Amino acid sequence: LHGAASLKLNELNDRQHEAVTAPPQNMLVLAGAGSGKTKVLISRIGYLIKALHVSPYSIMAVTFTNKAATEMRHRLESLMGQGTVGSQFSNHGMWIGTFHGLAHRFLRTHYREAKLPESFQVIDSDDQHRLIRRLLKSLNIDEKRFPPKQIMWYINGKKDEGLRPKHIESFDPTEQMMLKVYEAYQQACDRAGLVDFAEILLRSHEVLASNDDILAHYRKRFRHILVDEFQDTNSIQYAWIQLISGGHAGGIADEAPPSYVMIVGDDDQSIYGWRGARVENIHNFQKDFNNVETIRLEQNYRSTANILKAANAVISNNSDRLGKDLWTEGKEGDPIAVYSSFNELEEARFVVGNIKKWQEDGGSLSDAAILYRNNAQSRVLEEALLQAGLKYRIYGGLRFFERQEIKDALAYLRLIANHDDDAAFERVINTPARGIGDKTLQTIRDAARSQSITLWQASSRLINEQRLSARASGSLQKFVDLIDKLESDISELPLHEQADQAIQSSGLKAMYQAEKGEKGQTRVENLEELVTACKQYEPDENMEEMPILSAFLSHASLESGESQADDYEDAVQLMTLHSAKGLEFPLVFLVGVEEGMFPSQQSADAPERLEEERRLAYVGMTRARQRLFITYAETRRMYGQEHHHRPSRFISEIPEECLYQVKLTTQARQPAYRSSSSGYGSSMGYGSGMPSSSTGSRGRSSSTASHVKFSGSQYSLGQRVSHAKFGEGTVLNCEGDGDNARIQVNFDQFGAKWLVTTYAKLTVI
Ligand code: ATP
Ligand code: MG
Repeated sequence: LHGAASLKLNELNDRQHEAVTAPPQNMLVLAGAGSGKTKVLISRIGYLIKALHVSPYSIMAVTFTNKAATEMRHRLESLMGQGTVGSQFSNHGMWIGTFHGLAHRFLRTHYREAKLPESFQVIDSDDQHRLIRRLLKSLNIDEKRFPPKQIMWYINGKKDEGLRPKHIESFDPTEQMMLKVYEAYQQACDRAGLVDFAEILLRSHEVLASNDDILAHYRKRFRHILVDEFQDTNSIQYAWIQLISGGHAGGIADEAPPSYVMIVGDDDQSIYGWRGARVENIHNFQKDFNNVETIRLEQNYRSTANILKAANAVISNNSDRLGKDLWTEGKEGDPIAVYSSFNELEEARFVVGNIKKWQEDGGSLSDAAILYRNNAQSRVLEEALLQAGLKYRIYGGLRFFERQEIKDALAYLRLIANHDDDAAFERVINTPARGIGDKTLQTIRDAARSQSITLWQASSRLINEQRLSARASGSLQKFVDLIDKLESDISELPLHEQADQAIQSSGLKAMYQAEKGEKGQTRVENLEELVTACKQYEPDENMEEMPILSAFLSHASLESGESQADDYEDAVQLMTLHSAKGLEFPLVFLVGVEEGMFPSQQSADAPERLEEERRLAYVGMTRARQRLFITYAETRRMYGQEHHHRPSRFISEIPEECLYQVKLTTQARQPAYRSSSSGYGSSMGYGSGMPSSSTGSRGRSSSTASHVKFSGSQYSLGQRVSHAKFGEGTVLNCEGDGDNARIQVNFDQFGAKWLVTTYAKLTVI
């Protein structure tokens, strides 16, 4: 097999080798996390091209995210040598991408058959939402009874199942109404040449299903179809593969032999059930396709034995699994560090401290990932990272202060603080909708421009001079009054109450509450999280003289102005557990692992959802290669409220011998900690949770209190000490022991800070 040497087949284990070098056939590679499924899929493509001389032109590879597609392209290029395949990856070469990416490409080619204009536009969910709202208005349907988000969810769900309105029969009045909107929505999209995400898949499926010649063309072309993360395909994606491969009784005139389909997946990692993914597709594949060869991989190459054992134990609590045994030849590794923090601030500080330690020990930042259940959890982590001067990058989401709803809320606060802030004015004048249309806004803009005044001033003039229609003038007056009233009502209140009132009285919160579905809920949670941020905010010294609202606003805009680390920069990776699928990192932190957070409150009572949460825990744990930290907070201020949580059941499902309880504190767990003026990340040397590789066992023994208690041994409360950077101060508190000992000092110039005693190098004065 000339040319196959570069494939490094000798690096594969027997089962992997078998899968990679099998003769062309339908294959299912079913295996747990880190067993090399993605590696096998990529090597298989290499083998097809290099050893079996299959043209790249006849290969289609489907991945789950664009990031994965890019990575696959890179991995293939390095596998087969730079340049050797370069030109073949261009238009006439292989198709690598996500389902949406590939289907979109298909529609661009076949727009005529799809009855779309050549320049059809893809719309995102925000556009989709706006369009549905407009339709509801014109149909005279009450938005409150039929929230646009809910209708959008309905339409997308039906499309994911391959269903058009004509396929749906319903006797439920609510559904009948939604159907009516679905129909109107589709007509509007078709008229305007707009295509939403779900439509991309459905429409391309329809084109294939109703055009024999096109179908025959693609069947002939794509002899080899490979799909990664198959457990998360939905119905229409499955149907799409069936159709193109012809592996299913399609019955077209110009029958090409079916193509060969290789799917790889792991039922234990099915985490998109809530979005229509169907894990049954794995079983269906074995029935619907001919002579499927099933290959199971059982050796894990990613994680240490400890991490693997822990993850296996957790997932074994699920019922209805296909069942897989995973083992590793890898080292036992460090135990999983579990840390219980006072609250979410301390949790963030603990994580950041350990990343610093990792970096000091020569690790790179991009090898560290922080994974969380909800987007809103990122804020506290982001602030702690910023404070510590660590670069970070957020995947699959915006940084907290850049999110739409947060920008809306901040714009209200800005306008209250400064009526002449034109950008803020533009942003909120009709958000939520208050009947101030584009025409009125244009009149205001023109007036402002011609008289060189601000939008706010122009509004007052236009009203006074009665230059607007009575209706427009009335709406505008109401808006002006709202801002004036907010200003006089809230300026004396504490910052977080100012924010809370602004969010409520402006109607912003109600507007997002009316958006049903995951996204609307997230936005409301983020707004509440903003209130928490205000509560925790303490101005820097140089801003202490400013009104607290102005100080906070500059803080927020500085933070959002801080650009994300560039791609090539070394940066900590932050993402939700969902977006971590398929990835791996040497160092992983799973944060917020508490009952009510993870598993989420809503899933705790629903067995199916609970199992999906557990699969998510399995996905999270198995991202770690060398070190895994699991943290939870005893109290967490989240969504504007303080919660007391128990540690997640997922932690108790981990065998004790795999764990290491990081013990920093046995006494003095005072809740006052939250409000200490230390702010975030003040104790930079706080890195005590990291058991160094040689001391895994020491780590464990330290939790048995065999160490001399630190407190009182060296410093005493009230003692005066001096620190190289922070100067002189008074000891307020000591806790923990050995390497874990920490000391709280109230520095004369910098306020109270927690320091790790061994790093702090304090001198007694
Ligand atoms: P997931 O389920 O998380 O997507 P996966 O099954 O796709 O995981 P891969 O990402 O392909 O697993 O592989 C996990 C890690 O193990 C990668 O770093 C990969 O390079 C390595 N690996 C896989 N097979 C081998 C092997 N035979 N020898 C050495 N390393 C391997
Ligand atoms: Mg994979």
